[in-house]
Amino acid sequence: MNIDHFPQFGVLEDWAYGNHRVVQIAKLLRGVTGQKHRITFDPLLCATHFGVEIRETELPPGVSGRLRIDAACPRIEINREDHRLRKRYTMCHELAHLSFQEEIPATPKERADFDLVQLIPNVQKREEIFCNQIAAELLMPTQMFRRIAKTLDANFDGLSALAEGFDVSISASLQRIQRLAIWSVGRREWRIHGGEVETRRRQNPTIAGNIRRSRDKKDAQRQISQLLDKAESFIRQTFLRSHDACDEKSMRKYQHVLVCGTEVHFVKFKNVIHAFLIL
Ligand SMILES: [Zn+2]
Repeated sequence: MNIDHFPQFGVLEDWAYGNHRVVQIAKLLRGVTGQKHRITFDPLLCATHFGVEIRETELPPGVSGRLRIDAACPRIEINREDHRLRKRYTMCHELAHLSFQEEIPATPKERADFDLVQLIPNVQKREEIFCNQIAAELLMPTQMFRRIAKTLDANFDGLSALAEGFDVSISASLQRIQRLAIWSVGRREWRIHGGEVETRRRQNPTIAGNIRRSRDKKDAQRQISQLLDKAESFIRQTFLRSHDACDEKSMRKYQHVLVCGTEVHFVKFKNVIHAFLIL
């Protein structure tokens, strides 16, 4: 099989159909490579099926991978310095680009209203977004992920089990949980700057899809914000003093603190503390 047989995304009839096509493409790719029912997706198997060579190589810092179809044999180059799980994601992302060989993801209206020069930057960005979504769908198919997540407890152990089963990072499975609104999740980031803690990013809490009444949603949002505020004061009071001298490597692991009986998990990268909780 070669890349001419790679399933094509096709014309984006309407923006609203994008997600549907993402799911379809991933389903087709899993299907034709015999991975329909497998929990862990193997991107190498998929690449081999379509005659795409995968090569680990030295790439500029910050570049995880690239697709080269100029050579006789199409090739995906991945950054050899990246973590194994990042490499899996990059392979899926680059494979997804092959589904845009025939058509760029522009709507018919956009094609009629703009000339190509105006259109290209936006459409390229959109293709990147679709490739990320196809990669996530290949690694964690919506239906399968939702079904398995529902059998697990909404906590860090449940999240770890998902990450392990789908062979993705904790952060990727948390993002998936949030995108599909399976559990309620709160996230916040703080930057340590000159010995002070500054709030860096406040993300609106994700409220689980099964919480339907607006009063219940507001209650959950309030509860999450309060817990994260308490986590912040904990970090201000104790974390800075006790962990500041802690070596960077040992902190690249999620640790947890109990805030009002709820686990808040945090990880420190350089001078940024990232925290999340699951309700
Ligand atoms: Zn890309």
